Amino acid sequence: MGPPGAGKGTQAPRLSEHLSAPHVSTGDMLRAEVAASSNLGLKAKTFMDAGDLVPDDVMIGMIVARLQADDASDGIILDGFPRTVAQAVALDEALYNSGGSIDLAVSIDVDRDVLINRLAGRATCKNCKTPYHLTFSPPATAGECDKCDGELDQREDDQPEAVKNRLKVFDKQTAPVLDYYRGRKKLLSIDGAASPDEVFTSLVNAISS
Ligand code: ADP
Ligand code: ADP
Ligand code: ZN
Repeated sequence: MGPPGAGKGTQAPRLSEHLSAPHVSTGDMLRAEVAASSNLGLKAKTFMDAGDLVPDDVMIGMIVARLQADDASDGIILDGFPRTVAQAVALDEALYNSGGSIDLAVSIDVDRDVLINRLAGRATCKNCKTPYHLTFSPPATAGECDKCDGELDQREDDQPEAVKNRLKVFDKQTAPVLDYYRGRKKLLSIDGAASPDEVFTSLVNAISS
């Protein structure tokens, strides 16, 4: 968990490899629906472009279905879900019904001014979704993914107006989810200001302790 730009999409794939558990990003799932022009994608797009949350019923349905997939049976790493207390409650219920529970919620903490700079330079491979930053971690060849030569893309919702709203939405709707997990003694906070490698080290250390 963490505000837009905190490093969820950078750290979650690394953790996924480290723990051999699938990385499930609701943002990626939604962007795939938008790209496919599915009914769900068409419904979600307006909210996403404005930087608002996609309604809880849509998101809960999406995650409950994803939890039932075979590869989720030994656990998954959720990135970007839950973002509201209603989603957190629904997730607990769905896991309880299948005999599981949340192990840990990890909050990546980063100052606002840093977040804004990160989002302004964020670019992602259209093909393999590898995250880049045009200043902090640019690809070797401009506009081209190091891993697959795919084309790099900047997100519509990383424009300043949408970013402003997304940060507001985080404070209003997602910060209470951190309190939800804190109250259940499941919240771990890590400092996300250091380099991606250093953040990953503190993430792994914090989880194993
Ligand atoms: P989130 O998924 O939480 O919105 P991302 O992982 O996509 O955040 O990171 C946002 C941007 O900041 C990306 O361009 C990414 O390359 C860059 N970034 C991520 N972590 C760091 C870090 N520790 N230091 C500097 N830049 C980072
Ligand atoms: P970021 O990495 O910048 O935090 P994401 O890629 O996780 O952003 O999400 C992009 C957008 O997708 C969000 O601004 C929101 O519109 C939608 N979204 C993603 N996850 C959720 C969720 N759990 N609930 C509601 N909307 C979501
Ligand atoms: Zn790529």
